[in-house]
Amino acid sequence: FSWITSPAATELEMTVLDWLAKLLKLPDDFLSAGEGGGVIQGTASEAVLVVLLAARDKILRRVGKNALEKLVVYASDQTHSALQKACQIGGIHPENCRLLKTDSSINYALSPDVLGEAIAHDISNGLIPFFLCATVGTTSSTAVDPLLLLAKIAKSNGMWFHVDAAYAGSACICPEYRHHIDGVEEADSFNMNAHKWFLTNFDCSALWVKDRNALVQSLSTNPEFLKNKASQANMVVDYKDWQIPLGRRFRSLKLWMVLRLYGIENLQCYIRNHINLAKHFEGLVAQDPRFEVVTPRIFSLVCFRLLSSQNNEDHGNKLNHDLLDVVNSMGKIFISHTVLSGKYILRFAVGAPLTEERHVTAAWKVLQEEASTLLGSL
Ligand code: PLP
Repeated sequence: FSWITSPAATELEMTVLDWLAKLLKLPDDFLSAGEGGGVIQGTASEAVLVVLLAARDKILRRVGKNALEKLVVYASDQTHSALQKACQIGGIHPENCRLLKTDSSINYALSPDVLGEAIAHDISNGLIPFFLCATVGTTSSTAVDPLLLLAKIAKSNGMWFHVDAAYAGSACICPEYRHHIDGVEEADSFNMNAHKWFLTNFDCSALWVKDRNALVQSLSTNPEFLKNKASQANMVVDYKDWQIPLGRRFRSLKLWMVLRLYGIENLQCYIRNHINLAKHFEGLVAQDPRFEVVTPRIFSLVCFRLLSSQNNEDHGNKLNHDLLDVVNSMGKIFISHTVLSGKYILRFAVGAPLTEERHVTAAWKVLQEEASTLLGSL
């Protein structure tokens, strides 16, 4: 917890997160040499919670602690519910949590215009915008919010800007996908889950902040029994002050192992292979006129659906629900679903280390056969 209890655990975590930050080409402000640095949280939910608390306390120091009920948080309606939970824990009033509407015309990304209008409206009502969460790779459809434009709005309103790239952050180690986080230079915090798509076992969510002091000011305690020379001289990082619990696991070891064992090129190949397999699946869906690809595939997730011959939304939704149920009950493949603009949508995700093209082709066959049975029985 404190540096003194295991200097190696802290130092390795700082080093490994600096490596990963460089791999992602994050700005130098996120490196441990300056005012910022990285820390491994258990989950993206904890990551957004701790930065929300830091941002909340930072603004309250400025405007006065009685202003809590005026603080407003912004994100799109595609943002993971982890943000809502963070607001609940952080005492942000539920009516001050703006989950702004997205739609298919902008592929479910957060519109800067919609954000700007919401902020202006809130300010005119005496409220205080303080936190913006953008997502790169939303959970439903892997939508990418336009970081650069959103960052400008956050900055001009003095807000904390957090980027949640829990799933898609991993892809940004490849130069051809790095542009999806262009604008991260302007963020106050950035998060990606190494345990999602980076070959690391669960419980490894990498969080970087530019101002580690903001975290420490919110989360530090200093009881007598933890006092020690290294901490008191302010010469070391005490990760207990960057997280919720006191004690912590030696999680950097597994990330160190992944980086050392695979190396950059193998990790990039791993990501590219999954994206190519998803492209392959997308191509198969596009060739079958009974199906449609619903949102453009960006990473390794394909959102698709079986078209209803009756041109009726309820019928289409039931058809796809039935297809998902029957396919998953067979035990050969497992797919998941979401709802976008009222449409029930099927999701095919590639993310397992052993998946090959033949598995994807076979999965598509299962879907086609079951679709034929369902359509034939109508
Ligand atoms: N953010 C995004 C974009 C996610 O996709 C997820 C999980 O699927 C989360 C946050 C929450 O992740 P965790 O389970 O690490 O809290």
